[in-house]
Amino acid sequence: MLSTDALADKFLRLRGDFPVFRENPGLVYLDSAATTQKPESVIGSIVDFYEKSNSNVHRGVYPLAERATSLYENSRRAVSVFLDSSYEEVIFTKSTTEGLNMLASSLAGTGVYKTFAVPVFEHHSNFVPWQQYAKRNGLDFLPLPVSGVELSIESVRRVLSQIRAPFVFAVTGLVNSTGYRTDFEEIAELVHNHGGVIALDGAQLIPHERFSFRNSEIDFLAFSGHKLLAETGVGCLLMKKKFQEEIPPFLFGGEMVNWVEESDTSFAEGVSKFEGGTPNISGAISLKAAVEYLETVDMDLLEAHVANLTDLARQKLSAIPGLTIHSPENSHAIVMFTHEKIHSHDLSEFLGRRLNIAVRSGHHCSQLQLKSLGLTSSCRASFYLYNTFEDVGRLAEGIEEAVRWFL
Ligand code: PLP
Repeated sequence: MLSTDALADKFLRLRGDFPVFRENPGLVYLDSAATTQKPESVIGSIVDFYEKSNSNVHRGVYPLAERATSLYENSRRAVSVFLDSSYEEVIFTKSTTEGLNMLASSLAGTGVYKTFAVPVFEHHSNFVPWQQYAKRNGLDFLPLPVSGVELSIESVRRVLSQIRAPFVFAVTGLVNSTGYRTDFEEIAELVHNHGGVIALDGAQLIPHERFSFRNSEIDFLAFSGHKLLAETGVGCLLMKKKFQEEIPPFLFGGEMVNWVEESDTSFAEGVSKFEGGTPNISGAISLKAAVEYLETVDMDLLEAHVANLTDLARQKLSAIPGLTIHSPENSHAIVMFTHEKIHSHDLSEFLGRRLNIAVRSGHHCSQLQLKSLGLTSSCRASFYLYNTFEDVGRLAEGIEEAVRWFL
């Protein structure tokens, strides 16, 4: 592994791949948990598709259409390589939100599962669908309390010993408000031992660490392309093959059927069943460019660099009087904080408008996590491969300047 400085140097050089920093000199972008910036290769892949190969997929038999189909399917292959899964387990979706809605609705529709269980610190996209589809289908819904910002294995064990099986346990890999990494590997084992299945919200995890779907006990994995350098409007739901027959489709329409008769329809097999309608073709192609870029960078080095940035941010911010860091000590990629006297919206507006430092403020689509901390709003700085130690320094200095200005 490279030293901290060598890593920082490597990643500093990669910044040049991201046109946004050329176009916005002085920008300190610390909102990658919301969406990441895009490298030239990703932007280029989208332009290239529209200039050279634009056509619908899986339909026409003329060369342009065949080229579009093969680009689209090559993207599925690239995602499967990136996540070490089978090509036949990758379903293209619009986003994590769509993948999780698809899953909650479809699993509820099987009539097999009795309970949906979800920790309360989840992003609303991994909480509300389970809550609502459980309600709509008369299933039990079990919101798991968290202690502060962490989910202890003991509390999961306690809940699982009382749960009605078979059940679905949905959990995030990395909490989007605080950067707490869950122990989803151990949770998955427990879930299976108690007769459940597990869905992992990978929206924050997948951009940040190497993941093997094949070697994990995770049954379903959802993530969004735009949080790992690709275009918005594309994501994936990975579904282990053994579930694909039992689970009904979510979207009925073109290309997901086998035969349509007046009285009923038989559905396509495999992942096609879950991809009704024209997909986001350029989005999928951009996702291939994104994962290939990440492979070149090396996910282990990326993780180490982001960990260094996060550690430094926690260290610098914790030295600012009046500032409270709510993220745990080992949070990854994300630091959530509040100031005792300055509202988080005022603080983030000051940083953004006066100093060109982009941090998020609000409840981060995680109202229950904030409620459990007695908060309604907080600031969140999040880091990705193009961030530098200088960015972290500017954040800390910016907060100090805001404190002098407001107080
Ligand atoms: N889950 C987590 C942990 C997230 O951080 C987000 C977005 O911030 C989502 C789900 C929803 O992602 P999207 O809006 O791309 O569907």
